[in-house]
Amino acid sequence: MERILIIEDEKDVNQLLAQTLQDSGYETVSVWNGMDGLQALKQEHFDLVLLDLMLPYKSGDEVLRELRKESDIPVIVISAKDMVGTKIDLLTLGADDYITKPFDLGEVTARIVSNLRRYHKKETTKQITYKELVLDTEAKTITINETDLELTSTEYLMLELFLQFPNKVFSKSNLYETIWGYEYLGDDNVIKTHISNLRNKIKKHSEVEYIETVWGLGYRLAK
Ligand code: CA
Repeated sequence: MERILIIEDEKDVNQLLAQTLQDSGYETVSVWNGMDGLQALKQEHFDLVLLDLMLPYKSGDEVLRELRKESDIPVIVISAKDMVGTKIDLLTLGADDYITKPFDLGEVTARIVSNLRRYHKKETTKQITYKELVLDTEAKTITINETDLELTSTEYLMLELFLQFPNKVFSKSNLYETIWGYEYLGDDNVIKTHISNLRNKIKKHSEVEYIETVWGLGYRLAK
């Protein structure tokens, strides 16, 4: 169950938010000031924070600034309508979204759903960019100059290895054992053929050399 921290000093508003979110299937923790909010964030795991701006002792923007040093979880700021001018500052400080009081509870829930979805997507999509190559580890695709490289699974796995470990020299047996998962028996030609095919496919779209031969040692990502 996703956990939401509610930092809001107005008790009835806090309770109303907690009740609404629990009804929507979230687990909530309520605190009434910024210091307790930061404390809770240090000690427990949350998926999202609802943060009021006008808080006693430590204001919402201070809480946000401190929280951002440690964490990138989604933060939705709640504030009075006349503070909309601060919206830009808050987004610069790292708030993900902004809701003004008086708010519609359905709207709050919808914003939470969309921020959580965006966050989880960001978490699982990992892209590695190197020169003109972009590797998407989730979609298992590699593009070059925005064109999909049509690779066999072996070629993909090789290029993925080079991109994930840009400083490592892979011996032929390293490559063999990593990709096929069994012991290298000294047949150079298999690796050579795949490397050569991979280089040719890349060459169709780019002048840049991506795979460097390190004589006597193996291959690595070209600098
Ligand atoms: Ca307040």
